[in-house]
Amino acid sequence: CGIVGYIGHREAWPIVLKGLKRLEYRGYDSAGIALINETGLNIYKKAGKVQELENFSVGKDLSGTIGIGHTRWATHGAPSDRNSHPHTSNSGKLSIIHNGIIENYATLKEELIHRGHIFKSDTDTEVLVHLIEEIYKNENTDLFEAVRLALNEVTGAYAIVLMDEDQPDQLITARKGSPLVIGVGTDEYFVASDATPIIEYTKNVIYLNDNEVALIKRDELLIKRLDNVIQTPYIQALELKL
Ligand code: GLU
Repeated sequence: CGIVGYIGHREAWPIVLKGLKRLEYRGYDSAGIALINETGLNIYKKAGKVQELENFSVGKDLSGTIGIGHTRWATHGAPSDRNSHPHTSNSGKLSIIHNGIIENYATLKEELIHRGHIFKSDTDTEVLVHLIEEIYKNENTDLFEAVRLALNEVTGAYAIVLMDEDQPDQLITARKGSPLVIGVGTDEYFVASDATPIIEYTKNVIYLNDNEVALIKRDELLIKRLDNVIQTPYIQALELKL
């Protein structure tokens, strides 16, 4: 239901956590955050309120300058810790958050299980991260291209953000039918399902269009359409709400 992502030079946890709190008005049943630091990928997720996630995470390793966070409104799979986002791929290296519904998840899941993927949740979302990994593994291409190819096989509505433990210099995000905003800072980017988590850090935003996928590095942004045409990012200024 709510998405927040950060990549830059600051600690991601407080930014992502605060962003999730700002998105609480949307309603949700679970919350989760994933971070990458020198020890690798750390995921904290819980059924319940963002406050419970925060309490649960006290004393844990919350460092990292790249992170993604999610508040879930369950559509496929009951609200529970294991069905909360982020979800991970077979290798455990890719992590994803998703708003929306993947309509053809059952067919894709069957095929992926056939290819040896082991699922850890009952969500439609988890299918996406396994599918991306499968294509990444087989197509001899970069992760951005693998995401684009995977999304061409998906029907439904989504806003997603993906991280790779092995490439902590990039976030990949995409949308179709669910909103997604990218905040543009100085050597840092923010991603969110609406501008409320972003506005205190930057007024410069890009509203991603349907069928677009973005590769976000600390100092670089590339947007493509799902049909592989490169798009020129249109940066606009948020109105100041006093
Ligand atoms: N369909 C996904 C799920 O049930 C995402 C729901 C959402 O938008 O929060 O986990």
